[in-house]
Amino acid sequence: MIDTHCHLNDFNAFPNAGDAIREAQDAGVTGLIVVGIDEEWSLRAVALADKFENVYAVVGHHPNCVASFSPASLKLYRELWTHPKVVAIGEIGLDFYRDRTSPEQQAHALRSQLDLANELNAPLVFHCRQAYDELLSMLEARPLHPYLMHCWAGDAEAAQRALGLGCLLGVNGPLTYRKNDELREISRSSPLDRLVIETDAPWLPPEPHRGQRNHPKHLPLIARKLAEIRGIEVRDLVEVLDRTASGFFAKMDR
Ligand SMILES: [Zn+2]
Repeated sequence: MIDTHCHLNDFNAFPNAGDAIREAQDAGVTGLIVVGIDEEWSLRAVALADKFENVYAVVGHHPNCVASFSPASLKLYRELWTHPKVVAIGEIGLDFYRDRTSPEQQAHALRSQLDLANELNAPLVFHCRQAYDELLSMLEARPLHPYLMHCWAGDAEAAQRALGLGCLLGVNGPLTYRKNDELREISRSSPLDRLVIETDAPWLPPEPHRGQRNHPKHLPLIARKLAEIRGIEVRDLVEVLDRTASGFFAKMDR
């Protein structure tokens, strides 16, 4: 069972990554993808991938962090892509919920990193918040490319557009939240082989851990909820999810 998106590179939340990885493995998590948000967190993700067998890294600049984005960032991510355990570029995207960075700054960093991923033929992991129309419109104007929309939070219409682009949808803790019927319906009706699961730890803990710090060891709660929604056995679900994740993050298999 692969956690396709977590932040073990958050050293405040996870001062001892080794312990966190062991706990996750004891809970049945067989692979962890640690995602960067800027240069420093990307380098930390790669260091964790170097140190731990079943850990992989995604490198890139998060839309809320693009104040520090520069040509040197692109150069770094290009170099890091040559590392065998760097499996995608991300998390990149648009976030109009928080206004730490302007839409123009965000769009510039996004376009630069989209171009880089096209050049490297690297899959892309997106973060999107209150900007689905803008992000999807941008992607619809570009050639198709392997995309994963982490922490899907768009409506059903946006989901159809994303699926039309070939995107995978990452589902996580909010799937278990009482008020989130729309996400459950999208997770029920989307093709099963277009879904992946993630914790996004330390954020967005699933029920019954809301209000606490999330941990990759909680991934089985998300798998169980999705299996219930889909009306299939967890075992069968996880087999499909893992095949989808390792197909997308193709360097994992090399
Ligand atoms: Zn993230």
